[in-house]
Parts: sequence; C-alpha cells; structure tokens
Amino acid sequence: MTKFQDMAYQRPDFEQEVSKALGLLDQLAKAKDEAAFFEALQAIDTQTRALSTQHTLCSIRHTIDTRDAFYAKENDVWDEVTPRLAEIQVQAARAVLESPYRDSVARRYGPHLLEKMEVSLKTITPEILPDLVEENKLVSEYERLIASAEIEFDGKKLNLSGLQPYIESTDREVRRQAYTAHWGWMAQRVDKLDELYDKLTAVRHRIGKKLGHENFIPVAYARMGRTDWDQQDAKVYRQQIVDSVVPLAQKLAREQLRRTGVTDPKIYDYALEFLSGNPKPQGEEDYLVAHAKKMYRELSPQTDEFFQMMVNQNLMDLTTKPGKASGGYMTFLPDYKVPYIFSNFNGTSGDVDVLTHEAGHAFQGWLQRDVELMAIAEYTSEVAEIHSMSMEFFTHPWMEGFFGPDTEKYFHAHVADAIRFLPYGASVDEFQEWVYEHPEATPAERRAQYRVIERKYLPHIEYEGFPYMEGGGRWQKQGHIYFAPFYYLDYTLAQVCALQYFTWSMKDRDAAWQSYLTLCKESGRLPFKQLVPKSGLKNPFEPGTIAQVTPALEQYMDSLDKSKIH
Ligand SMILES: [Zn+2]
Repeated sequence: MTKFQDMAYQRPDFEQEVSKALGLLDQLAKAKDEAAFFEALQAIDTQTRALSTQHTLCSIRHTIDTRDAFYAKENDVWDEVTPRLAEIQVQAARAVLESPYRDSVARRYGPHLLEKMEVSLKTITPEILPDLVEENKLVSEYERLIASAEIEFDGKKLNLSGLQPYIESTDREVRRQAYTAHWGWMAQRVDKLDELYDKLTAVRHRIGKKLGHENFIPVAYARMGRTDWDQQDAKVYRQQIVDSVVPLAQKLAREQLRRTGVTDPKIYDYALEFLSGNPKPQGEEDYLVAHAKKMYRELSPQTDEFFQMMVNQNLMDLTTKPGKASGGYMTFLPDYKVPYIFSNFNGTSGDVDVLTHEAGHAFQGWLQRDVELMAIAEYTSEVAEIHSMSMEFFTHPWMEGFFGPDTEKYFHAHVADAIRFLPYGASVDEFQEWVYEHPEATPAERRAQYRVIERKYLPHIEYEGFPYMEGGGRWQKQGHIYFAPFYYLDYTLAQVCALQYFTWSMKDRDAAWQSYLTLCKESGRLPFKQLVPKSGLKNPFEPGTIAQVTPALEQYMDSLDKSKIH
C-alpha cells in the first residue's frame, strides 16, 4: 500500500544493468534444461519490471512539474539509454524464438506470445537503420512545424488547439473567423506539409522494399503489432462503415443543423453541436472524484477496490497547474502493481472522460497486475481502446452526478461522436492505403485522392470558400498520418466493440459486465479476432457486424429527451 509520494526513485547503474541483462540473455540461450530456461526468462522479466518502474516514476514526476530540474535531467538520461534497453528486449525475443524450448513457452504462456515476438522482429534489420533515422527526423520536423503555430486571434497569440473553443463558438461569425484562421495557417504551409509527407512516403517505401515487401503496408501493420488481420480485412470492414454508418452519420448531421438553426450550412457549422453550449461537469476535481468513487463502488466490487486504491495511494494527478505537461495519459508501475493517471482538468466534459476513459485503461492494467511475464499483457491498440471506450459506456448510469441538467446532452454527444468518428477513421485508413500503394503519386495527386475518399465517407461535407480543404488538405492536420502510419483504424475497431457493450448492457447489464471483465483479463493472451468473439462480441471484420449494431444506436438516439438537447 505504498503511496505515490513514497515510491523511491533512484537512477539505475545502467552499465551494471546492461551487463546483467547480457548475462541473462546468455543464460537464456545456453540453458541446459527447461527449468534453467524459464528461470532466465523470469529473471529478465524481473529486471525489465524494475527498470520500467524507475523509468515510469521519473517520467510521471517530470510531467507533473516540467520545471523540476532533477527529473528533467533524469528524463534526458533515460531518453538516451532507452534505445539500448529496447535492443536487449529484441535480443531476448529472438533468443526465445530460436530456443529449443519455444514450444514449452507456447504451452506455458499461450502461442500468442510467440506470434507477438515474431511480428516485433519483422520491423527492423540493420540495413534499414539509416532509413529509420531519416524517418524520425522528418516526423520531428512535422511535429515542430505544427507546434510552431502562433496565430493572432481575439487579442491573443494562440496555437492551433487554442483556436478550438472559438471554432466551437455559438456565434457563427466567431466560428467562421476561427476556422479561417486555423486552416489559413495550414494552407500557407501546404508546400512544406506536402514536401515532408512526400519524403516520408519515399523513405517508408524504401523500408518496405528492403524488408522484402512490395510496398510499406506490411511493415506498417507489423509495427502496429497486428498478427491476425490484414489489408483485406480492413477493406471489408471499411465497406461496412460505408454501408451502415455513413447514412446514420448523415442523419445526425441533418438533425444537428436543425437543432442549431443553420439553413445554409458551411463547413464551420458542423463544429457546433448545441446552441446552449457543450455539456459541463457540475464541479471541480474534489467533487468529480467523490462522485467517481461512488460510481465505481456501485458499478462492481472490482471497480470499487480499484478506485479506492487510486485515491488512497495518490495515484492520480488530475487538475491542470503551472509547469505541468499538457495532455493526459494512464501508465503502470509494475513493481508496485498499480496504474497511474495523469491529466489536465480544465472544467470541460474532458474531465469526466479522464475518470471513465483513462480509468478504464487503468482498471484493466490493475486486473492484469499479477501476469506471469509483462510481455504476455502487451496488446495492440485496437484491444487497448476497448478497455477504455467500453468503460465510458458502462458508466452511463452515473453521468447525472457529473453533468446534472446537461446529462441528456452528454449522452447525445457521446454516442453521436462515436458514430461520426467511424467514417472519418475509415477515411484516414483508406487514404493511407492508397498512398502507400501508389508510391509514385505526386503531392497534388495525393490531395486530390484524399478529397475523393473524403466524399465517400463524409458526403455532406463541402468546403465552399476554403480552397485548401476543397483541394484535399484536411488530412495534413491528422498527425498520425505523419508520425504513426496506419494507426487509426484501431480506434474505430475498438469503438465498434465498445458500442456492442453499450447496446448489450442496455439489455443485460450483468452479462455484458462479466464479459468485459473476462476480456480485460485475457487481453494480450489472444489476438483481436479471437479475443472479441470469445468475449461474446461480434468480430467487427465479419460482414454484417456493424449493420447489427447500428439499429440499436439509432433507437437509443431517438429515445433521448429532445427537449433537453438544444
Ligand atoms: Zn485510450
């Protein structure tokens, strides 16, 4: 029961750790029998947990106060040594795969562990190291460019996310101006954004070729750790979204415009969901945490134990304050077997999302705290986001305590956002597939193709008065396309699973919850396409799955009290 502030940080002696790790790798490779082999494997895991715990303590404390010179310095030290430690993990995976005891590993921990190790080795060879350096440089250049935005607006100097509240303004003229400022800034940099992506796709194509593929796509899938689905699955899945979700999203868009009283819609009108403003939480941190405590107590004995621990051991740093890094995350401290949640509460509904979404990730990590090897509990992002996105829906019955009179608006926005996200997510995936299948395309051809794909998934969107967007520029703001190729469909796949838990829990709450608990505990032991049906959910890749989910969602949306949604 160690409280976070009492968890001791000490920088490891890295020279000593590396030589210890190399010794253990040697033991693993030369194990004289099965017992010696597993002993070495466990010892490597114990060392990995200890190092990971220290690294995580350091990075949490650094993000809580980036001005703290001690942790800033320590953080730099870890950044330098991390690639070397990662390389040792790769060697350990190779040693397991080449071992005479690999079948015993599969019997003991399940065959998926070996599949994960195999796919991790497919993404890297010595020949591509210079290409990876070049790729990282280009990614950093993109991130620096986007972060450098400084736009004069409303008497302030704002970055791109600082403009967002104005883009969502209930005043149409403010919306128009903010949207124009945001995308005008991007449009002025189109040549640079094109150039960076052109170079990125070229280096990635080269990496794909060097690793023996026709193009970069199989490498991207391997980087995402996907062992059991491919491009063909993605194609079939995206078509379901076109058939079943696009019409529903269109209907939502029409209702939105009716609600906000817009008769001649422009692109910036879609950012406004409610004329009365977005749903607001009814209090600050103390109030929200107290209600979350009650919520998790009533939800289940497991969530009660989990959340009490988070509070009693000070495992959350929630409210924004000077010196704190931006954003929010959940992480895990393996030696203490506890998760940690970091966020920047700022009075928006995002505060409540932290207590459901990030807490969902944290709850799952805690459920798996006693896993035999850390590597068993590693899973792909489409699995990870089921944990968090489903918790957002399982906690619906307690939203009244967070949102008071805004609860109905919250319900509407939550489900509408989930539905609208699917077509957009699919468009991002289809665009990237086209890009890497057409390495010879020019930047102008890429943008033209994006607009074609965008029309297929978001047919109601017109960009009258915004030539950069009309010319297919929107994707240049979607950072994943630059820094994490093909990392996007994952979110939509998880969302389709979470939406199934939502409709299931409306019919049979207990059964849905028990299934969720099992899915959380089994995550990492089975790949996505096995884990999902084993939990009683329909596999999103299976034709017809989405068509079976959407009617219940439409019914739910129609059942909301429209007099409270305005
Ligand atoms: Zn998440």
